[in-house]
Amino acid sequence: MKIVLFTGDGIGPEISAATNTVLTTVRDHLSLDLDVEVQPVGLSELDAHGTTAPSVVWDLVEECDGAILAPLSTYAYPPLDKGGINLSSEFRTKLDLTSNIRPCASLCETGRAMDLVVVRENTEGFYAVRTMYQGAGEFMPDPDSAFALRKITRLATRRVATTAFELAAERRKKVSVIHKANVLKLSDGLFLDEVRQVSNQFPTVELEEVLVDAAASLLVRDPSAFDVVLTSNMFGDILSNLTAELSGGLGLGPSLNVGDDFAVAQASHGSAPDIAGQNIANPTALILSSAMLLDWYGNQSSASRKPYLMAGTAIKSAVKEVLAQPSDRTRDVGGRRSTNEFASAVCRALSVAVASA
Ligand code: NAD
Repeated sequence: MKIVLFTGDGIGPEISAATNTVLTTVRDHLSLDLDVEVQPVGLSELDAHGTTAPSVVWDLVEECDGAILAPLSTYAYPPLDKGGINLSSEFRTKLDLTSNIRPCASLCETGRAMDLVVVRENTEGFYAVRTMYQGAGEFMPDPDSAFALRKITRLATRRVATTAFELAAERRKKVSVIHKANVLKLSDGLFLDEVRQVSNQFPTVELEEVLVDAAASLLVRDPSAFDVVLTSNMFGDILSNLTAELSGGLGLGPSLNVGDDFAVAQASHGSAPDIAGQNIANPTALILSSAMLLDWYGNQSSASRKPYLMAGTAIKSAVKEVLAQPSDRTRDVGGRRSTNEFASAVCRALSVAVASA
């Protein structure tokens, strides 16, 4: 398997290095055929290449089986015509990565008792840059009014709903679809209608329909009541930060963007510029995202890919074991370890985890 690791902005390079160390260690333990190519992207590339996404990015994607994209400081990017390309958005739309899968399970006692997965539509919704074939999805007809277009299609909804129901069928068999169809009657009405049709193909999975404002309260009240949370782009972005925090902290929330034949691992959090360069960021989310990428690859058809599943399982067990020791955690979750020290502890735990994977 060949993976390209895009190192990103802010804490991106630090948590990328930690993730690469863990991947190299699991590769060595399992004699895995795994090649990780590291490529900087983001603000560091702007001066040299005039863009945050040098053209080599797309060659590497073409050559690789999957990618890891560290967080990007997109809020600080210049406009598109000055080179500010948001690769996160570009990958999701151009590689047709319809589903963003964001698991949130309690990994240490700082979090609430929960084990849920947010499955978020990734390519349209309220995110105006993703709604148009050509032209801008945001516009200002006069200096004092601004509009943003929201797009919901049957096809993207069907694809993300199918991902959610397939996942739920292997878990606790419940999908909670989160919407605002009482106000967005047409667009969320269409989203709901398509989800109900997909649910008919999964008779063993319960479908629950929850308004997004109620969902925010119910998730805080009792996150353990949720199994798979299915929703549109922006609701999923917001609610998955909420669930990551409920599960223990934003630095713990992994995610995988999945299409038909490519996947991109990304932490749920951003580039945390407030703590960048201090070697204190929690690399858990990106490390666990890379484990999700190995799982995804291992689950593709051929039996020869089973070792990648073992690698993904071993990384998850090793991270869990390290997080179980309060003093081994990074400071955002109450510990004292640096980013590097945490990665080293995960690598030490991997030797045991690999044996039982
Ligand atoms: P953020 O997620 O970067 O940070 C929010 C808070 O959580 C900060 O206090 C930060 O220090 C903390 N935090 C986040 N990740 C952490 C980690 N791994 N370890 C320890 N603490 C962590 O959100 P923000 O500050 O609103 O955004 C910063 C930048 O990230 C912006 O430019 C935004 O556009 C971008 N962003 C990128 C992505 C992405 O690349 N997928 C996602 C969200 C935000």
